[in-house]
Amino acid sequence: MKAHQHSPRHRRQELSTLTGRLRQQARKITGPRQAILKILRAHPHPLASREIFAALPKGLCDLATIYRAMHLLEEMKMVKRFDFGDGAARFELVEEGDDGHHHHLVCTKCSGVIEIDECFPAEIEKRIAAKNRFKAVSHKLEFFGICPDCQ
Ligand SMILES: [Zn+2]
Ligand SMILES: [Zn+2]
Ligand SMILES: [Zn+2]
Repeated sequence: MKAHQHSPRHRRQELSTLTGRLRQQARKITGPRQAILKILRAHPHPLASREIFAALPKGLCDLATIYRAMHLLEEMKMVKRFDFGDGAARFELVEEGDDGHHHHLVCTKCSGVIEIDECFPAEIEKRIAAKNRFKAVSHKLEFFGICPDCQ
């Protein structure tokens, strides 16, 4: 189980590597898809579809195209979906060969985000799995608080 391995975050993947991964899976590299990857690459924290839309050149595509593209990229495991509890799905690029498992610390005042590499000891999941006779137990978790600048 590699759910608790954390590779260093923010290693920038080359855009050519990313488009290569699309190509490997016989997916077309449309202009919008390439532009979306470029924007995600430039952002260390998860972005909502609307934020991606706002960062794209005007008129390149509509919001529905971004929703579809994010769905596809998630299926291909190139992005990981995060939920900060405000109803907007957020996406972050996943390193090749990494499962992207990590957590965030979100400021409830300024919405600032910090990447958190710490995680529960694997024993907790094992115990929960054994107690309930589950297999393949995983978790999703984000932390919230007030950052030093907002205190
Ligand atoms: Zn992250
Ligand atoms: Zn703050
Ligand atoms: Zn975790």
